[in-house]
Amino acid sequence: MKNSADAVVIGGGILGVSTAHFLSRLGFGSVILLEKRTLAAVSTGHSAAAIRTFYSNPLTIQLAQRAIQIFSNADQEIGGECGFNQAGYMTLLARDALDAGRQVVEMERAAGIRVEELSRDEIRDRLPMVDLDNIECGVLEPDSGYVDPVMTTRTLARSAEAWGLTVYEGIGATGIRTEGARVSGVETEQGAIETPVVVNAAGGWGGRVGSWVGLKYSLRWSREVDIVLETPFDTDVFPWLSDPQIRFYARQAGPRQLLVGLGFPKEIEPLDIDNYSEELDEPTRERIEGLLFQRIPSAKGSPLVRGWASMYTITDDWHPLVGPEPDVPGYYACVAGNGHCFKLGPPIGESLAHLIAGKEPPSDLHPLRPTRFVEGEYFTSVWGGGNRA
Ligand SMILES: Cc1cc2nc3c(=O)[nH]c(=O)nc-3n(C[C@H](O)[C@H](O)[C@H](O)COP(=O)(O)OP(=O)(O)OC[C@H]3O[C@@H](n4cnc5c(N)ncnc54)[C@H](O)[C@@H]3O)c2cc1C
Repeated sequence: MKNSADAVVIGGGILGVSTAHFLSRLGFGSVILLEKRTLAAVSTGHSAAAIRTFYSNPLTIQLAQRAIQIFSNADQEIGGECGFNQAGYMTLLARDALDAGRQVVEMERAAGIRVEELSRDEIRDRLPMVDLDNIECGVLEPDSGYVDPVMTTRTLARSAEAWGLTVYEGIGATGIRTEGARVSGVETEQGAIETPVVVNAAGGWGGRVGSWVGLKYSLRWSREVDIVLETPFDTDVFPWLSDPQIRFYARQAGPRQLLVGLGFPKEIEPLDIDNYSEELDEPTRERIEGLLFQRIPSAKGSPLVRGWASMYTITDDWHPLVGPEPDVPGYYACVAGNGHCFKLGPPIGESLAHLIAGKEPPSDLHPLRPTRFVEGEYFTSVWGGGNRA
């Protein structure tokens, strides 16, 4: 293993790999990425990977918009395939959600994003299997959709090797060295690496990694389940369907398959990050199916194809912690996906890499700084809590 680098990134999920990719691409020199398991092994590889711009603050909308540019031009932007299916993203709005939903649409349009409001008849024409009880209209983002999260992560890592990225899978970081307050190296299970720059992208373990340099992050973790069902109808034209009324989401997962999960608001299901099951459990399966069948009655009886569980890492305002820490020069946080940061990974990594390299970032990440909580500048959302964000 190399024993020195210009930067070391800890964590091989979408946030870490994206930061390492763009740092290398900017010519930062020798960049090492350490992943204690395999790339995308935790939240990233289990993600439903929705790509949507339906957010209620300008920065997240801007980052999500950049994500669509990156994914729809992946060969050029990230050097290979990401499996982007621009199936569209449709949010169903009940009467009491109309005002908030339309505020989001205004923000999206102000950013230049294509958004269509669909009447009940127009939704029915596209999705005759959906029961529109309680629904006033739909909001469709035609350019949104979903990607393959593992393919995207591997493409980002592989293409950056040409620019000086070295990826070590199966090697965990065990400490951060400092001289005075400044970062001077990273300790690993296989020896130390001298480096002036470390990026903490350790996902659920980000609090632990931060504590190595005396930082405290307020994080929670929630177990999250997705299932895939074999449906009696074609799903080719099925967009990502977000139903905040019944609280589930569904997207195509194959020609006659839907991937389905629970939407917000929902309760946190706490987990032990060092000891939790990735297996689907029967009560959660029944709960997800029950919600889906209320909206799509003809899906009743659809056989289960597969299901899995993973984790959300959650901050106090459901937005990630990204940026330098003033008391630890050379250290950068890129932690806590909050259940919606697969899509934001590449644009966040791109802007953070610019910041580290002393270049003008495409997006100003200052609102995501880890010190925002003590400074009293939380994100708020007109659209709702949790990862609706
Ligand atoms: C079921 C589910 C569905 C989701 N759906 C969506 C969606 O539709 N759209 C969306 O945008 N987002 C979605 N998300 C959220 C998204 O997947 C996450 O926000 C994102 O993957 C977080 O990426 P990450 O890099 O922070 O974390 P992770 O992918 O968890 O990566 C962190 C990595 O750090 C490694 N690590 C930890 N400690 C160390 C150490 N000491 N040394 C080396 N490596 C270490 C871990 O092994 C891990 O691989 C979903 C998440 C889940 C669980």
